[in-house]
Amino acid sequence: MKLTILGSGTCIPNTKRGSSGYLIQTSNSKILLDCGSGTTWKLEEIGVNYLEIDHIFFSHIHPDHTGDLVPFLFGTKYNHYQKRERPLNLWGGKGFIKLFGALKKAYSNWIVPKDLCVDEIKGGSQTYEDFKILTTKVPHIESSLAYRIESEGKSIVYSGDTDYSESLINLAAKCDLLIIECALADDDHKIKGHLTPTEVIKTINAANPKKAVITHLYPECDEKNVVEIIKKDVDLEVIEAQDLLELII
Ligand SMILES: [Zn+2]
Ligand SMILES: [Zn+2]
Repeated sequence: MKLTILGSGTCIPNTKRGSSGYLIQTSNSKILLDCGSGTTWKLEEIGVNYLEIDHIFFSHIHPDHTGDLVPFLFGTKYNHYQKRERPLNLWGGKGFIKLFGALKKAYSNWIVPKDLCVDEIKGGSQTYEDFKILTTKVPHIESSLAYRIESEGKSIVYSGDTDYSESLINLAAKCDLLIIECALADDDHKIKGHLTPTEVIKTINAANPKKAVITHLYPECDEKNVVEIIKKDVDLEVIEAQDLLELII
């Protein structure tokens, strides 16, 4: 599997870090995890045709994770030069269909391209052409999900936005790569629903992934160098997420 980080940042405008978006390419599938603002443009930047994305899995419906959904769909429907050749599947947690319904009410059929499927993840695991996806609820907003994608004997887990949780540890157990948020520094006031470096270290040491990518970095996380803090207390390769960084798993 190949992971390309499209957005390692948050809702705060930042020239170096876009809002959340991660591309995973398996042998036959192109999957987006979240689609924050700028994600579609970043795909163009790395030479991946957005019309070839098969699935978008949303961790939750906060705007920094869903902001590019409307531009993505509008650009799909009104691309007069090229058409999609495969269905487009949009997945989210509970309430995702309601969000799509509200967007459709505002934008009508402008955002409904041909062969669009919109659905909510009911839990458990789902198997597709050449990958399997498992989910668990994580504590952030009510409908927040973390995802585990398995393909060709490898596994990538994406925490989405989350607070410390046993469910994430279980989902991430012994995975090849854990993409985990760290939105706060330890000396900031703890914000419910996000992780501090201490909690990331605890999660990594309990889940025991082979590698970890630290992401969803607010500007103060860069200022306080949270990734270096995490590196000191875990015994595995820890990578600071950067926009357009590619990792082969
Ligand atoms: Zn977020
Ligand atoms: Zn959020």
